[in-house]
Amino acid sequence: MSLIEKALEANRSYAKIPNPARAERPAPKLAVVTCMDPRVSDLPAILGLQHANLDVIRTAGPAVTDDVLGELVASNRIIGTTEIMLLNHTGCGFTTFTDEELNTKLATSTGDSSPAPMRFFSFKDPIQHTREQIEKVRSHPWIAKEVPVRGFVLDMETGLLKEVEAVPRLSPE
Ligand SMILES: [Zn+2]
Repeated sequence: MSLIEKALEANRSYAKIPNPARAERPAPKLAVVTCMDPRVSDLPAILGLQHANLDVIRTAGPAVTDDVLGELVASNRIIGTTEIMLLNHTGCGFTTFTDEELNTKLATSTGDSSPAPMRFFSFKDPIQHTREQIEKVRSHPWIAKEVPVRGFVLDMETGLLKEVEAVPRLSPE
C-alpha cells in the first residue's frame, strides 16, 4: 500500500473522533519560518510550544523568498502573530550543492533541461543565511516594527538553538 493510501485509511479513523475545536479559527502568536527537513518537523518538542501557538511556514533551507515574505505579512497582519522566528539548522541538504550544480545534474540525469534555470535556494553558511533572512524580513515595511524578528540555527547534534545576531558584533579590540 502506498503511504498516501495508508494515510487515507488513517484519516477515516481520525474523522470518527468528534472534535469541534478543529473547525475553530486558529490564533497562533508565533510565526516560524523553517526548513522542509523532516528533522525539524516536531516544533512542539523543539520549542516547547503547542501546535496551536505556531504559524509555520516551511521552505527549503528555509529560503525567505518573496512568497514567504507575503506569508509573513499575512501571518502578522491577518492572522495576528506577534513574533517571528527564523529557524535554520545545521547539516541542511541545501548546503550540499549549488543551484547551478543541481540544474546541470538534473538536466543530465533526466535528459531534459528546465524551461529556465530552476532556483533551489541553496546556500553555504547557515549563520550568514540567517543574517540575510533577518535583514530581508526586518526591512519589509509591512512587517510591524514592534514585531521581534529573531534568527536561530538549530544544532542537529546537540538539539540546541543558537541565536544569530542580525549584524555581527564587533569583537573588542
Ligand atoms: Zn534544511
